[in-house]
Amino acid sequence: MKKEFVVIGLGRFGGSIVKELIDQGADVMAIDILTERVDEFASIATQAVVADTTDEAVLKSLGIRNFEHVIVAIGDNIQSSILTTLMLKEIGVKKITVKAQNDYHEKVLRKIGADQVVHPERDMGIRIANNILSNNVLDYLELSDDHSIMEIIVNEKISSKSIIDLDIRARYGINIVAIKRGNNLMISPAADEKLQLNDVLIIIGADVDIIRFEKKVL
Ligand code: ADP
Repeated sequence: MKKEFVVIGLGRFGGSIVKELIDQGADVMAIDILTERVDEFASIATQAVVADTTDEAVLKSLGIRNFEHVIVAIGDNIQSSILTTLMLKEIGVKKITVKAQNDYHEKVLRKIGADQVVHPERDMGIRIANNILSNNVLDYLELSDDHSIMEIIVNEKISSKSIIDLDIRARYGINIVAIKRGNNLMISPAADEKLQLNDVLIIIGADVDIIRFEKKVL
């Protein structure tokens, strides 16, 4: 049976959850209070709905109770996040995951019964710090709050694959800017270029995508 999820809040975090769940074959109802956000997901999510999820009647009419797992990815609006979580508990949703903005928010969410509280910015900072120290990442340059350039070393898992085999632009939204091989620097390498062990890839992308890539591929 197909897994069914609801994602509330289609910002960068919620949006990437929707995309990944869909990529992995799940059914997703994507909800946001803003029409333009919902429009963006109309052709991606199984269902995309404009709704204010702090309204219990709205949640009931959407049949949210029948989904196995609801993810609350409402960002800065802590009040909406808390109210939504409370309403979801009230209507009896089995599993609720909520994104917390800070420790205080997290505490409240746990008190009202959120099953899982995630802290993506904090966790990602820790993750990136670890990645900087890891063997695969040679260098790292923060371009903005959420984009970076990284130098990663090619291990045996990806050596002898071509760039097109890895398909990282389509799958992860990451671009390989250059390959360093010994003293050679190949700028904008061709898609059929075969990677060699110990090549250094210079990649650019969103931190979330780079982390996803590292987790899955390296
Ligand atoms: P991120 O940091 O992940 O980019 P944002 O704050 O940009 O987070 O995204 C949160 C989303 O949640 C926004 O698109 C916002 O419109 C949506 N949102 C806020 N309040 C509600 C609500 N009451 N019901 C539904 N969606 C909401």
